[in-house]
Amino acid sequence: MEYYSSHINRLIEQLSHLPGIGAKSAQRLAFHILNMPREQVDQLTSAITDARENVQYCKCCYTLTDKEICPICSNPKRDHSVIMVVENTRDLAAYEKTGKFEGVYHVLHGAISPMLGIGPDDIRLKELMQRLSRDEVKEVIIATNSSLEGETTAMYISKLIKPTGIKVSRIASGVPVGGDLEYIDEVTLLRALEGRVEL
Ligand code: ZN
Repeated sequence: MEYYSSHINRLIEQLSHLPGIGAKSAQRLAFHILNMPREQVDQLTSAITDARENVQYCKCCYTLTDKEICPICSNPKRDHSVIMVVENTRDLAAYEKTGKFEGVYHVLHGAISPMLGIGPDDIRLKELMQRLSRDEVKEVIIATNSSLEGETTAMYISKLIKPTGIKVSRIASGVPVGGDLEYIDEVTLLRALEGRVEL
């Protein structure tokens, strides 16, 4: 890396911190950026800074949004008595794309993983329980991934909710094991949702 100027090295280093970007990809991206028209680079940097500055967690479901309460939570046409619990905002988007889910969401921002030292307090679980004690909720659909972490989280949540008497269900196992929800097609997601089983 000493072949490059310190400015280039800094750009490569910053890019290599991004997920899925190794040293080689970081170099390729850095040189691509340097060859971009000045104007385009400005647009890219301002898009990053603007997003970081203006995006916040919805006070109700904790998805990432521009407003204090996200458009889904503030929509009176949605069924607020059915909450689908997902691991992240990308999974929420995957279900929204199907256009068939009329309830609302709760975004955990992670999953319980004893291996990685991620416990129940490290995800937005307390917030979910507070919501359940506050709002009139009929059903909680757990749509965490079918990975070990996702299953562990689903079990934990169902044990937590059961005593409250609220119906808890889990999306059907049509979702491939270890599959990230965002990569699954809409038909599979719908089937998983419709075929959900009560826990
Ligand atoms: Zn929301």
